[in-house]
Amino acid sequence: MELSVVFTLLTFVGLSTAASWGYEDNGASKWADTYSTCGQNSQSPINIETFDATLQASLGNMTLTGYDTPVALTIKNNGHTAQVDVTGNQYISNGGLSEQYKLAQFHFHWGSDDTKGSEHQLNSNAYPMEVHFVHYKNSLGSLGNSVSVKDGLAVLGFMFEISDSDNANYADLISKLANITAYNTSNLVSLTNTALMNFIPSNPTNFFRYSGSLTTPSCNEVVVWTVFTETIKISQTQMATFRTLMSSETDANNQQYNIKDNFRPVQPLHSRTVYSNFYSSSATAAYITVYTGLLSLILSTILSY
Ligand SMILES: [Zn+2]
Repeated sequence: MELSVVFTLLTFVGLSTAASWGYEDNGASKWADTYSTCGQNSQSPINIETFDATLQASLGNMTLTGYDTPVALTIKNNGHTAQVDVTGNQYISNGGLSEQYKLAQFHFHWGSDDTKGSEHQLNSNAYPMEVHFVHYKNSLGSLGNSVSVKDGLAVLGFMFEISDSDNANYADLISKLANITAYNTSNLVSLTNTALMNFIPSNPTNFFRYSGSLTTPSCNEVVVWTVFTETIKISQTQMATFRTLMSSETDANNQQYNIKDNFRPVQPLHSRTVYSNFYSSSATAAYITVYTGLLSLILSTILSY
C-alpha cells in the first residue's frame, strides 16, 4: 500500500510537471491560459520582414568577448531542448547594448523535418534549427536576477542551414546527444573544451534588433533580441540526431514524445519596430523585383500599342 501511495504520488508529480507547458498537448496556443504574460503584446519569436526593418547604423557591430577561449561545457536534456550550460567568462557588448551581458547557456529549437524548426522567421521563411545564446545583464549578477527586469536578458539567435557535409565544429556536441536522449535534468554530459566561436558563424556581423520575450513560459518581456543573418551549416544527418532526444511530455498512453517542433509560432509584432545594423540586401532585392516587374509591365503596355 505504501508503495502504491508512493507510485500514485510520483505519477501525480510526474503528470503535473509534464502538464505545465510543452509543445505537444500543452502546446503554445495554451500557454497564456496558465502564464498570462504569454498573451501580452511584446512576445517572441516574430517574423522579421527584412524589407520593413529600420536601418539604425548607430547600432554598430556587437563585440563578443571570451568566445575564442576554450571553455568547459556541459549539455543536458531538460525535456524541452538540449541545453549547454556555460560557466566561463563570455560577454557581449556594444551593438546597441546598454552595457555588458554575460553568457549563461545556449540551447536549440528544431523541427520534425528540415522545412521548419527555427523560432524566428525571415520574410516568412523558417530554418531547420535556431540556436539561442542567453546572456544576462552583468550588473544584475545572475540569470535569476535578470529574468524579471526589462532588458535584463540579451539573446543572440543564429539560424542553421542544411549543407552536404557535416559541420566538424558541432561533431563533439552532436555525438554527446546520444548520452542525453532520456529526459533527465540531472544528466549532465561534459563536452570537450571548446571555444564558443566554433558554435556560431565565423564572423557574425549583420543583425536585426527588437524588444521581445522569452519564447517559453513564463514568456517574460525582458529580452533584447539580436537575430543574425549569417547562418550555421549542418548536415541532414547531424540535424536528425537532435530529433532522437526524448521529451518530458507524454501522450495519452503515457509514452514519451520525441523532442520535435520545439519552437513557438511567430507572434504579432504589434507596435514594435525591428531595427537592423546594416542595409538589408533583401530589401534591395525586393526593390529590384518590384522595379523589374514595373519595367516589364510598362514595356509590355507600350509594346501592346
Ligand atoms: Zn530559445
